[in-house]
Amino acid sequence: MISVQGYAALSPKAPLTPFSFESREPRDTDVVIDIAYCGVCHSDIHQVRDEWGGSQFPMVPGHEIVGKITRVGAKVKKFKVGDLAGVGCMVDSCQDCSNCGEGLEQYCEKGFVGTYNATGKDGLPTFGGYAKSIVVDEKFTLRISPKLDLSKVAPLLCAGITTYSPLRHWKVSKGQKVGVVGLGGLGHMGVKFARSFGAKVVVFTTSTKKKQDALRLGAHEVVLSKNEDEMTAHAGSFDFILDTVSAPHNLNDYLNLLKRDGTLVTVGVPEKAPEVEPFSLIMKRRQVGGSLIGGIAETQEMLDYCAEHGITSDVEMIPITGVDEAYERMIRGDVKYRFVIDLKSL
Ligand code: NAP
Ligand code: ZN
Repeated sequence: MISVQGYAALSPKAPLTPFSFESREPRDTDVVIDIAYCGVCHSDIHQVRDEWGGSQFPMVPGHEIVGKITRVGAKVKKFKVGDLAGVGCMVDSCQDCSNCGEGLEQYCEKGFVGTYNATGKDGLPTFGGYAKSIVVDEKFTLRISPKLDLSKVAPLLCAGITTYSPLRHWKVSKGQKVGVVGLGGLGHMGVKFARSFGAKVVVFTTSTKKKQDALRLGAHEVVLSKNEDEMTAHAGSFDFILDTVSAPHNLNDYLNLLKRDGTLVTVGVPEKAPEVEPFSLIMKRRQVGGSLIGGIAETQEMLDYCAEHGITSDVEMIPITGVDEAYERMIRGDVKYRFVIDLKSL
């Protein structure tokens, strides 16, 4: 076993505290990663606060992990000691069902094994990236280009792939008008990708002070979602809307902005389910969809795309002791645009 220092929530809503745990001895196909940076996702908050139910404690959160490989198992092919590597939201899946066969491990019929707040196939709890190191099968480990600033790459492992995947799946491209709702960790990556794919991008925000940033990040236009006139000016005009909001809000306000056959995809997971007004859908044959992170192959494709196009996250670096304050600021929408923990501080 490997002794690891981390930071954990010991019970729902408790502040995070130093916590030591044991990782498995690396198996033949495992790598050991010395974690340099870990992004802070709103899903960490939902799970630490048990907002989705079923949280397991103690919990070491963190699924936007980047660092350097320090050990490789005898059969590891993709990596050698010293390589940069990343880990996202999954560390295992059945590898046997049709979804896994298609590289869509996030939709594994038996359920994927989460990087934290989950139980591995060995029956042991999984612990995430608010820690010094992690042991992961190479199949669930991503290659990271040395071309990009590593600290700004960390958020790509969740915020990046969660927005890249639906934009690709619904074929967002040049000539389309695309909305991104909520300018946080996911939202700001959604803006960068939608712009990079050639769409006309409109950001919907509740924060007046994010307007300039939204334009700098790639939006063509910014709408203050609390302003009814600004909202109705866009009625019936969008091909696609990506909703990244973490708290309960009215989906119908956005459905009514879609044109005929337009699609709203939600990636946000508020504690309370949204209500969808049937008339918002039937009047223009609109659709509502959802999307969960992305498969391993697509995550690698996204990372390679980012390296080629120079796309990274806008981050605010924090020490591990700053994580509780970061949670509070994220809940207030005060994030620019992803907190990233520097694990040297642990
Ligand atoms: P975040 O950085 O905290 O950003 C969320 C943004 O939502 C805020 O910055 C704010 O943007 C907006 N917002 C917050 N409260 C709001 C309210 N009451 N009304 C309207 N807008 C509000 O969160 P994140 O890390 O991007 O995560 C967003 C959501 O996606 C979370 O629910 C998370 O669990 C989920 N998620 C899903 C997946 C998936 O696979 N589907 C993956 C990762 C995360 P403005 O200030 O611009 O209004
Ligand atoms: Zn996440």
